[in-house]
Amino acid sequence: MPELPEVETVRRGLNNTTLNQPITGVEVLLDRTIAHPDIAAFKAGLVNSQLKTWHRRGKYLIGELAAGAGHLGVHLRMTGQTLWTKPEVTLEKHTRVRFFLGDRELRYVDQRTFGQIWWVPPGVEPSEVMHGLKSLGPEPFDEAFSDRYLAAWMRDRKRPIKNALLDQSLVAGVGNIYADESLFLSRINPLTHCSTLKPKQLSTLRKHVIEVLEASIAASGTTLRDYRTVEGVNGNYGSQAWVYGRDKEACRVCQTTIERIKLAGRSAHFCPKCQPI
Ligand SMILES: [Zn+2]
Repeated sequence: MPELPEVETVRRGLNNTTLNQPITGVEVLLDRTIAHPDIAAFKAGLVNSQLKTWHRRGKYLIGELAAGAGHLGVHLRMTGQTLWTKPEVTLEKHTRVRFFLGDRELRYVDQRTFGQIWWVPPGVEPSEVMHGLKSLGPEPFDEAFSDRYLAAWMRDRKRPIKNALLDQSLVAGVGNIYADESLFLSRINPLTHCSTLKPKQLSTLRKHVIEVLEASIAASGTTLRDYRTVEGVNGNYGSQAWVYGRDKEACRVCQTTIERIKLAGRSAHFCPKCQPI
């Protein structure tokens, strides 16, 4: 699943490729990818507009259209990909939507089809239309994601810290990989209840959440089987992972075998020695 660093990498790729050229056509190959009841209205809203810039909020991509023409929203969910290519290039098997821009094309490819694309009409806030956007917590790189904020949020919550990190209303965009990695670096067991964490531990955790996300963005995202940058390049954070995906392998710090458990339906990876309960 693309996480914040992958989405940020895609955003940068889209900013390098799709801006300031008229959208001359839109072809929808799978109607349910479009989160709009009227496909014709979706197309009409986009054709002849231009993308001015791409923003990211959590894992949502928000393309701002020039001249106040609204926004184009994208959520990649499990397997969504954007590909910048030429119209004459053979269609990838799971191509769902094609946006034609000048002599190029932006393709939306999505094998499992959980991804969504929105057209936000002029004068409407993206959060009014794009489901889930409004309930997002602060961005990890924002000042609002402070030690104080984190401590206040954790105070009365008894659930495992790993589950809390995946809660998008705590902090936007942190997924399974970066939650596991930042807990390892902070020496916090994923099962530890939020309310029992000391302010110093939370401060360390906050610092590491930001660090692992920044490191991954610098490496253009993780190595995920289904993930590609907009230019079709695979990122390379995965080869540097401390615990994520390293079940039964030796801890890079103490050689203890990395364990994998199920937590809230997701897998959690940790070193029992470096991250005691
Ligand atoms: Zn260890």
